Amino acid sequence: MKEAGRQHGTASPCAACKLLRRRCAWDCVFAPHFPADEPQKFANVHRVFGASNVSKLLQEIAVQHRGDAVSSLVYEANARVRDPVYGCVGVISSLHCQVQALEAQLAMARAQMVRLRMLAHLDLGRSPTGTGSTTTGSSSMCPSPIYTPGHGDAGQTPMLSFSYER
Ligand SMILES: [Zn+2]
Repeated sequence: MKEAGRQHGTASPCAACKLLRRRCAWDCVFAPHFPADEPQKFANVHRVFGASNVSKLLQEIAVQHRGDAVSSLVYEANARVRDPVYGCVGVISSLHCQVQALEAQLAMARAQMVRLRMLAHLDLGRSPTGTGSTTTGSSSMCPSPIYTPGHGDAGQTPMLSFSYER
């Protein structure tokens, strides 16, 4: 090991080569995306996908798209480590449920808005001195009962064909 006094680039290995205990070549496919100061970033990717698979995958992708591919791989690997059963599909499912619930809530709010507008219109047509109670009691933009910022609480009811449990 002679990585002590070298400049970064050739001898100080990237996180991948450090973990794999190999020499980090100047054209190392991992080096631009897995810096030495983020060892866990590569550790999970290696654990889930395997270093040689990731290497092959990156080499098949155009250089300008490799950063996005690595972000995706890191996200998927971290999700798989957190949730060995569903991985990032669990997160997607949870967010999908939230979208569906919020869409239903939005549709109800819109329907209520239409109903209130019709009532207001009728009030204006029939009695000019109306009761003045047309737009009361709807703070509808607060999705608090459904929205859960951290995904995957245990008691959540799944809306897809499988349940998401942590
Ligand atoms: Zn390397």
